[in-house]
Amino acid sequence: MLGSGILHGTTFQKKLVVGALICCLTTHVDAGVVLLYHHVDEATPAITSIAPDQFNRHLDIIEAEGFTVLPLDELVKRSMDASSGPEKGDEKIVAITFDDAYRSIYTTAFPNLQARGWPFTIFVATRLIEEKNPHYLTWAQLAEMSTHGATIANHTDSHTHMIRRLDAEMADHWKGRMRGELMTAKGLLAKHGLDSNLFAYPYGEYDEETLNLVGDLGMIGFGQQSGAIGPHSNPLLLPRYPLAGVYVDEAAFRDKLRSLPFPVLHPEVEPMVSDNFKPLLELSFITDTLNLSRLTCYGPGGLMALSETSNTNVLATPAEEVSVGRTRYNCTLPKGNRFYWFSQLWIRKQSDGSWYHEP
Ligand SMILES: [Zn+2]
Repeated sequence: MLGSGILHGTTFQKKLVVGALICCLTTHVDAGVVLLYHHVDEATPAITSIAPDQFNRHLDIIEAEGFTVLPLDELVKRSMDASSGPEKGDEKIVAITFDDAYRSIYTTAFPNLQARGWPFTIFVATRLIEEKNPHYLTWAQLAEMSTHGATIANHTDSHTHMIRRLDAEMADHWKGRMRGELMTAKGLLAKHGLDSNLFAYPYGEYDEETLNLVGDLGMIGFGQQSGAIGPHSNPLLLPRYPLAGVYVDEAAFRDKLRSLPFPVLHPEVEPMVSDNFKPLLELSFITDTLNLSRLTCYGPGGLMALSETSNTNVLATPAEEVSVGRTRYNCTLPKGNRFYWFSQLWIRKQSDGSWYHEP
């Protein structure tokens, strides 16, 4: 379970390692933050919603903090660029994304974003648009927003749980089925003049095979784990901050906005736990100049026990088992008035081996 990363050994990854080392020998900070919203509505489920006035408050904070709102592809390019130069350094950049294409994006969020002239991205599960479900946007609304700074991107066709195999499904069949999900969505988006190579994993769920598939199709993948993007981020699993329910608090929002990419090498490990339900997390820092005594990690049961195994390595142990469903460990390390921020997803099936149900 522990490891230096699930894409270990690829040429792509080696390039990223070099990028990471170059990044941190210089003094500037490369960080790009991506925000994730679903509904902007008071009447929808709290777990995926933010109230309209709270959403506008977030936009006010983005402006007051001096952040530039970039299109998502440009934010990725800028924050992962390891080169230094006079134009780089402490850039305050953020991108706004919405998953699932709910109606309130058009009726409530769009007018406010348009008034500010800010770009944003909507990750669309295309079948829900094709079915003309009244809770979701129409192709006409998506097309209209795309002419006003919106990127319309891929979120599979059916909003499937990608990591779930059918009963007795062979690897090739699964791969074909998932490729179909992504390519059907891509084709439908293109048919409406909405082409993009940006992809968001439904429910933020992934495994090694899923990431490889997204990579094979030449796409950039986004999860739902917290953190900022930097030169050493994995382009198949870029972090976003989910902002809904209890996670919309303004002070915490400022901390997320100002957050920095966690200075570790390829920390992502397979999220699925099947026997050890208290998985350790190994953090391998890219520099030995950080004060790791200020590192804090939270997991199931609260604060995690940390042990420094070297001056660049820390092992984090959870207080309790990860629960059935999705769980995350969250680690932060202060740097001035900002935080390096990292989150690791864990996925656990029910005790009889069946999949959990979404709430
Ligand atoms: Zn979704």
